[in-house]
Amino acid sequence: MNNDVLKLLAPQGFDTDALRAVYERERDRRVRPGGAGHRRITAGWEAFEKDPAAGDPVAREPRHDVVDVAVIGAGHGGLLAGAKLRDAGVERIRMIDTAADVGGTWYWNRYPGVQCDVESYIYMPLLDELGYVPTEKYAYGPELFAHTRRIAEHYDLYRDALLQTKLTELTWQEEQAGWEIATDRGDRFHARFVVIANGNLSRPQLPGIEGLADFRGRVFHTSRWDYDYTGGSTAGDLDGLRDKTVGIIGTGATAVQVVPHLAEAAEKLIVFQRTPSVVVPRNNRPTDPEWAASLKPGWQRKRMENFTRILSGELDDVDRVHDSWTELYRAVTEEELAKIGQELGRELDPAEKRDVVELIDMLKGERFRDRIRSTVSDPETAAALLPWYQTHCKRPCFHDEYLPAFNRPNVEVVDTATHPVRRFTETGVEVDGKVVELDCMVLATGFEVATSYRSQTGFDPVGRDGVHLSERWQEGPRTLHGLQSRSFPNLFTMGIIQNASSINFTEMLTHQAVHLAHVVSQVRDRGYEIVEVTPDGEARWRSEMVEHATEAELKRWQECTPSYINGEGNVAAPFSFFTRKFGGGTLKFVQILEDWRAAGSMDGLELRHPARGDLR
Ligand code: NAP
Repeated sequence: MNNDVLKLLAPQGFDTDALRAVYERERDRRVRPGGAGHRRITAGWEAFEKDPAAGDPVAREPRHDVVDVAVIGAGHGGLLAGAKLRDAGVERIRMIDTAADVGGTWYWNRYPGVQCDVESYIYMPLLDELGYVPTEKYAYGPELFAHTRRIAEHYDLYRDALLQTKLTELTWQEEQAGWEIATDRGDRFHARFVVIANGNLSRPQLPGIEGLADFRGRVFHTSRWDYDYTGGSTAGDLDGLRDKTVGIIGTGATAVQVVPHLAEAAEKLIVFQRTPSVVVPRNNRPTDPEWAASLKPGWQRKRMENFTRILSGELDDVDRVHDSWTELYRAVTEEELAKIGQELGRELDPAEKRDVVELIDMLKGERFRDRIRSTVSDPETAAALLPWYQTHCKRPCFHDEYLPAFNRPNVEVVDTATHPVRRFTETGVEVDGKVVELDCMVLATGFEVATSYRSQTGFDPVGRDGVHLSERWQEGPRTLHGLQSRSFPNLFTMGIIQNASSINFTEMLTHQAVHLAHVVSQVRDRGYEIVEVTPDGEARWRSEMVEHATEAELKRWQECTPSYINGEGNVAAPFSFFTRKFGGGTLKFVQILEDWRAAGSMDGLELRHPARGDLR
């Protein structure tokens, strides 16, 4: 690193090369040859799948009818699609979900401490439209879930819904200009349009550790919390664990919220950690009623946009959200780089600019580590909890009670990078050749991300001329705007597919919902039945992806500590975050969609009536 820059920004003696070497060493000891092999994606999941909140599905008659739009998945994405389609005058909207209610993430995740750490005022959808203001800056699970139900009520989305229902087949029928849908409840019905909103992180994964089925203690995934066993509620008080030794595998955002409650309740808690999370202050607070009363129509959108602009490195007059996200992720602006150049008396070259960005992040990293060292009193435990990677490499966590929980005498951390969990036994887990006895193991091991679309949805749409989506997307997704794919007419895919991801993913889902509702209403208003991407439309969007995926950006991620974000150290995997992502950023992506709608030419799409011949 250039010494002038270093002198200007870092304390004396700050050794960037040494720190970079530690980052590399810590990364390398976590990379596994099998990539995500430490996660067991599906095998054995059936034993854990049962819904502890609702139990077995309620009996009902199968449906054999016709709807305008079927929306698969009733989480934020599906509800937003439903709401925007309703606004566009669509009559029969059928939400389909395996859960017993709407809510998606906020239906399934009922673990103690469940909370959203993106500010509720920008994360909870449709606040303006429903006239609701969350009670806290960071709402807890029950309030988030209740709001999803409020949306479904408001937009009358329960009317045609099929809950506790799993889609099994989705088949295009050209003659009927729509999709035939079959489910595990014997339904077989027709939908003119289909929206797949299955969620980005919805299919739970188990740790890839042998012998899970041998363990005779209690074991469950955080998204299926077993309150019958633990007692208590999302607010804690897990009285059932008072005389229990509990293990938890995983230290991501879920575990960070769960651990303080387990630590408070269990006789002993052992945290099995592969990679420590960055944990910064939460600073939650109740909503100021005066502020809530002062909000003018359009406030939520302005707040969302302000957040995204700040995270995208644009200067804005004010930081409305003003929290740890905007502090941590605020990109270094060109203006700031120019100012540093002025102080040095010359313009920074591109390599120096990258050095500045890296250095600023390293200085942040020092602050995270200092917080741990000053909070956790046992130096060995504190050392085990130190994160050694750039901030963007893993999703940071926000909590005020997580680190102090490690000061309790009943809490222990096991670093699985040096003391791997070899296998489950009947009574616990084997580590370093010895059995660690456990009454209960909590699996905070997250959800599938970089697997194929088929694996994540659990079905494989069959499009025009019998083409399977899994074949079409074998080398990764091919779409226009991430939403529509050639050979799959009248089908929309929401989520992280060839679009810009965003920390506040609700914002991205809102843009997708607005866009697909626009396309559906244009097909109707122009008197057509079918809309399909043209080969050229798809090819142009693909080159747009390639154009924005810079080598430097990919390298930056490849060097990260392994996680689902960088395909466990392989950013080029067909379904990694990067092969799926529009690299031009959220602002540019949204602008592209808005310009496309304003132009009105439906560029890249063909509108038609049912075909009688081969369209290929
Ligand atoms: P996650 O972020 O994927 O974390 C899973 C954890 O399990 C990681 O610490 C992982 O270690 C660990 N792990 C997996 N297999 C393991 C094994 N065999 N041995 C040891 N450790 C193992 O999952 P999550 O915490 O459930 O979060 C899921 C998603 O929801 C994330 O995107 C998260 O940010 C989000 N979330 C958000 C909020 C919110 O407030 N908005 C709250 C909770 C969750 P490695 O990291 O080393 O792979």
